[in-house]
Amino acid sequence: MGGSELPQVTDPAGVARRLEAWFPSAARDLPWRRQRSGYAALVSELMLQQTQVSRVIAAFEAFMARFPTPAALAAADEDAVLAAWQGLGYYRRARLLHAAAKAVVERHGGQVPAAAAQLGELPGIGRYTAGAIASIVHDAREPIVDGNVLRVLSRVAGAPTAAGERASDAWAWEQAARFVGAARSPAVANEALMELGATVCTPAAPACGRCPLASSCAARAAGTADAIPSPRKAAARRTVHWHALVDHRDGGVLLDRRPDRGLWARLWQPPTVESDVPVDAAVLALAWGVPVTCTASFVHVTSHRDVAFTVWHPAPGARPSAPGAVRVPLDELAGRGLANATWRVFESAGLPVRTPPSAAAPRRGRRPGPAGPAGS
Ligand code: SF4
Repeated sequence: MGGSELPQVTDPAGVARRLEAWFPSAARDLPWRRQRSGYAALVSELMLQQTQVSRVIAAFEAFMARFPTPAALAAADEDAVLAAWQGLGYYRRARLLHAAAKAVVERHGGQVPAAAAQLGELPGIGRYTAGAIASIVHDAREPIVDGNVLRVLSRVAGAPTAAGERASDAWAWEQAARFVGAARSPAVANEALMELGATVCTPAAPACGRCPLASSCAARAAGTADAIPSPRKAAARRTVHWHALVDHRDGGVLLDRRPDRGLWARLWQPPTVESDVPVDAAVLALAWGVPVTCTASFVHVTSHRDVAFTVWHPAPGARPSAPGAVRVPLDELAGRGLANATWRVFESAGLPVRTPPSAAAPRRGRRPGPAGPAGS
């Protein structure tokens, strides 16, 4: 069904009123709600894309303590920013946030702008994030649509939308504009709409019994809430094979920087041979110029692929060839940006490293991303 054929949210003003009345007593106590500022919203919104709230809470407070202002973040070394992002995954967001802080300093005197149009010109800030900061921090009448908002509006209207479908996104932006246009407080109404989607109108088993919109929800009346919106088609998964050489001596380990693009771009890793198929010791010995032995293997699951790691050691006394690699003391690893999988490589290799707590926890139940292009 095209966006123009979908039913509209009836009485958006009534929906806004009920949500505005519900939110003060229902809102979760989240650290970025305790320190309202454009900068805190910028940091938290980028962290929340694709990452569950419980993981963001700990990372947010540590990040804000380390980089309390856009100027502090802009002046920081990229490795320090990536290290502070550890455990959140999707490191492209960290680089975009770093670039946004630099742009805030260069173009706006270090103050995160209030207008959605100016926010939208910052690196990494899409329509959703610009609208969220402008409306929630500055009470601007800007619509926002993320996965939570799409789901709530679709169910209230009884509109059979489809996650990730262009016509459904266009419909949701139109409904969100009607909704915020009718709100008394755009800040409260928008945040309440997102909160309802995150805590009550959840993708599976929505808690309609304690929903402030239950009496006017078309999907509830029709018994179709569980089927709306229809899920995004799963991307085809593939398996790649990464062969990591752990060369630990003199208190340090060899590290390479990953390429500028692709998975874990610009993070650090041990010298690694990547291929679509498993590669044997003879081939790896040629690549690294020394005999090698495989000591461990595991599979790391990412959003689109399974990375089958094998962990290799050089023969005793042999010096592998790894142009560009640097030897980093083990106690300095936490100051570099390392993917969770890299910590696991080192643990599998038996290195006496302590994986940072934020990098050790499993990653599940991510917040649905903004509607539109992926944020990371
Ligand atoms: S009544 Fe149920 S389906 Fe409708 S908005 Fe509330 S939680 Fe979602």
